[in-house]
Amino acid sequence: MKVVEVSRRKFLQGSVALSVYATASLATPFRTNTTQTSTKEAEETPFLCNMCRNKCAGFARVEGGEVTKLDPNPFFPKSRNMLCPKGNAGINALYDKDRLKYPLIRMGKRGEGKYKRVTWDEANEYIKDKLVTIIDKQKDNRSTIAYCNGEGFNKDEYIQFFGDKLGSSNFLDEGSICLNTKLGATLLTIGDIGEPDIAGSDYVIISGANRFESLITPDSIDLIHNQQKLVVLDPRCTITATKADDYLPINVGTDLAFCLAMTHIALKNELYDKTFVEKYFEDFEKYKAHILKENYTAQWAEGKTHIPADKIEQITKAFFGAERPLYYLGRRSVWAENDFQFRRAMVLLNALAGSINRKGGIIFGEPIKLPKEVVNAPIYDQAEGRFDLDGIVYGANKGGSWLNFREKVLTQSSPYPVTAMFIRKHNLMQNMPNIAKTKKMLEMMDLVVVMDTLPSDTVLMADVILPECTYLEREDMVVSFNRLEPSLALRNQVIKPLYESRSMQDILKGLGEKLTKPLFEVSRKYDEDLQESIQELGEKKAFEEGGYDFTELYRNSVTTRNQNLITKAFGKEAYESLKTKGVWYPHMEAYHREIGNHRYEYYPEEKRHYTVQRDFKVKCYLKKLAKHGFDAMPSWRDSYDFNVPKGKFRLITGRNVTDTQTATTNNIMLRDLMQSNHLWINNKIAKELGIALGDKVEVASSIGEVQIEAYPTNKIAPNVVWFAHGFGVQSDELTNSFGHGASDNLLIEDKFEKIYGCATMHHTDITIRRL
Ligand code: SF4
Repeated sequence: MKVVEVSRRKFLQGSVALSVYATASLATPFRTNTTQTSTKEAEETPFLCNMCRNKCAGFARVEGGEVTKLDPNPFFPKSRNMLCPKGNAGINALYDKDRLKYPLIRMGKRGEGKYKRVTWDEANEYIKDKLVTIIDKQKDNRSTIAYCNGEGFNKDEYIQFFGDKLGSSNFLDEGSICLNTKLGATLLTIGDIGEPDIAGSDYVIISGANRFESLITPDSIDLIHNQQKLVVLDPRCTITATKADDYLPINVGTDLAFCLAMTHIALKNELYDKTFVEKYFEDFEKYKAHILKENYTAQWAEGKTHIPADKIEQITKAFFGAERPLYYLGRRSVWAENDFQFRRAMVLLNALAGSINRKGGIIFGEPIKLPKEVVNAPIYDQAEGRFDLDGIVYGANKGGSWLNFREKVLTQSSPYPVTAMFIRKHNLMQNMPNIAKTKKMLEMMDLVVVMDTLPSDTVLMADVILPECTYLEREDMVVSFNRLEPSLALRNQVIKPLYESRSMQDILKGLGEKLTKPLFEVSRKYDEDLQESIQELGEKKAFEEGGYDFTELYRNSVTTRNQNLITKAFGKEAYESLKTKGVWYPHMEAYHREIGNHRYEYYPEEKRHYTVQRDFKVKCYLKKLAKHGFDAMPSWRDSYDFNVPKGKFRLITGRNVTDTQTATTNNIMLRDLMQSNHLWINNKIAKELGIALGDKVEVASSIGEVQIEAYPTNKIAPNVVWFAHGFGVQSDELTNSFGHGASDNLLIEDKFEKIYGCATMHHTDITIRRL
């Protein structure tokens, strides 16, 4: 990034300046200093990790104003005294020398990387001028401003600002490039997204989820400690597969056929839990008749999945014969066109086994309910509805469908133009299939504002860059976690924000102060209801009662809001516990105890919420699907068969524990553990193509090509290749990761399924050429 103008204060470079800026705060005397070698006094502050979506709890050690170590927190039931490699590397996210340090405004062409340094006020003024012009031009249709935020804390508050206060309906998040089909399938089938109780199960089947390699959390460790029977289906022999009792190298995208065959065997042989079915199932007979009529036998599934029929029979009998079986629903991106049906078939299999709302199954549990803060949101008459869910059966109303949205914007087939985007915690340029299209969409915008901590590929497409602080430099609103062993946890501020970075709340507060009045004036010009209300009530009252003031969201600091909310709902002790231990739940003092070397119990067995009183139904038949021409019950279609043309290979992706998509790609500690990604290619095929270990190959799809080093192996099927997501960044401002590996989204075609509008990541065929 070429900063062409440096103004006022001299920019403080890198970590040499850290000790000047870093100030310990909210330190707790709870933990003792375990630093033997340091002469400085250490303080420990409880925090919640943000290096992936799991939010494990830890204590940050601060010495002389610098964070020197991150340790796991033994009080949090969700993370159970564990931080994974990424969690430990969080310290390098804080002290990354490439961090965005002050607000910047674009000087050169979009994507060229030329920026001038400005003050926060200048940045906000610039955004305000642009927004007023844009919204005025669109006659107060606030939905011309799209806004997005990936997974994480503060998302709801971000939506309050741009959705409730600014009035746009076009919010997008990571769900449609992640696991919305799974969430939707569970919700629509059993009325809740539930939570898998891996620790309580005695027989687990996993389709593709790579729990020992891509996401190592306590849930993953449960699969080792508790020694369940583990069956893994995956076309690639992952580390998870190597830990399985049974590893089944399934044909890509045919897991639904496996589930349908299991269902067929269970129904035909009456292996299912009859009492549970009678009590909770809706349209069971219809489902049974459908599965039997379609004749989804093990022999039929063998042809699709390449898993021997007798193996499918054996696993089905073992699953239904187990005391607490669980078909794990997965926690990753959508694979194929049939993904929704596949996830639903898994939920129905769990239900047939009675594994819903009971130990070892999908549990509903009893989360601690947090009171909601009420927002006075204006009604903007001219603001139009979202359009990205047009043609999608269900969709996630909150997070929408990214690929449908982008396509409509690009082809100008949306009912109104989208002319500006606010982007936070979302690396659009790397996380969506077909990067060229994302670039084109951003180039079409009149205004792109990005809030981030690092100069990602998306940041370099911004007109205005707003440096956000990292999770160790801010307090976030308290969050309720888990259902089985529920708790509240608080992300405390460990040190104050470095450089000129700010928390999201502080960024939006500054912006809100600038926007409130000018945008109210735009509404007054076009909104007849507002004009009437001004006439009736007077301007002051119409403004106040209408909720037009953005700044009312931030009258109190996050700390004050947390204190008020927690103390009022749960008492002073709960607040104290959250400040000093980072965690609180009822009876914590009595329940929490050490049961082994660094292992803890959080709730006694009899106090865990395995089963709760709840009226629910297991829905076998979804009328809405039938109405839209889709299968109302899980079914196989010929188009689901896995075929790859001769000379081509199916590209599948995943990630390693060192990376959370591209969010952690520049972390020096993690890059040290895994420098680059490699193309996994079957040994036999590699030989035929004359490719040896480490050879550079060109991989090409219909939308692009990448160069990557080859890793010939027998651990992958001959018609499939794999390489890890999270590499191949194009921003040379990310000096630890630029030039490392290849990006899968340069190759993955932008196809999406039509039930939730989710990108299907495993539908691209590629060719390979040795360079
Ligand atoms: S799993 Fe690792 S990266 Fe994710 S929140 Fe926990 S410690 Fe952090």
